[in-house]
Amino acid sequence: MTHFILAEQIYKTYDLGEGVEIPALRGVSLGVGEGEFVAIMGASGSGKSTFMNLLGCLDIPTSGRLLLEGVELSSLNENQLAEIRNKKIGFVFQNYNLLPRTSALENVELPLLYSKVTASKRYRLTVEALERVGLKERMHNLSNQLSGGEQQRVAIARALVNNPSLILADEPTGNLDTQTSAEIMQILKDLNNTYEITIILVTHETVIAQYAKRQILFSDGKIISDQ
Ligand code: ADP
Ligand code: MG
Repeated sequence: MTHFILAEQIYKTYDLGEGVEIPALRGVSLGVGEGEFVAIMGASGSGKSTFMNLLGCLDIPTSGRLLLEGVELSSLNENQLAEIRNKKIGFVFQNYNLLPRTSALENVELPLLYSKVTASKRYRLTVEALERVGLKERMHNLSNQLSGGEQQRVAIARALVNNPSLILADEPTGNLDTQTSAEIMQILKDLNNTYEITIILVTHETVIAQYAKRQILFSDGKIISDQ
């Protein structure tokens, strides 16, 4: 059986020039099956975001093999990586990354503008995605008129609109209160259960990590536990 994600001995070193190198990942090996919900935990600076950037095709490893659905990412050029990013992966970030003074609808529609989808289908897919996160009624609100939790729901809808097979969420509840965090995590959990979207979540909070079915701990650029 091939893994949905397979990382073998991944190293990532940031070269700051003048002989300064930062070893962010030091031999990470990991297999993730399709439809898994994995939480990555670990202290600040342990390499979590670096690993997420590699999974998200935003960067490539210094060495090691990284395969997504059997495709070796290091062998792809910029355009091919961008295509995978756009078609297969939805991103959710701590600070939502929405366009300011732009409606929820337009924010969610954005990823579809890069694909060849007609305007009417774009509208339908956008409204559907907002429905899935319970925000259809607020779709004409501007992003700055929404609460933090609502903004994160817009960001999740935007991540969903291209029907991705993988969602990467880096500290998605980092700016939210406990109650709102629970709501956001429940949405992610439902997406994982209902649509079998594979989710990789980074968090430093144990209660948040409990929503995932598997918890992985990073320390100093390595995996030190996986359960
Ligand atoms: P985490 O997300 O677990 O806090 P990061 O992956 O962001 O960890 O960082 C791991 C290490 O790599 C840290 O020492 C950090 O300072 C360094 N680092 C992260 N991104 C960069 C970058 N773009 N350039 C140089 N160093 C970086
Ligand atoms: Mg980080």
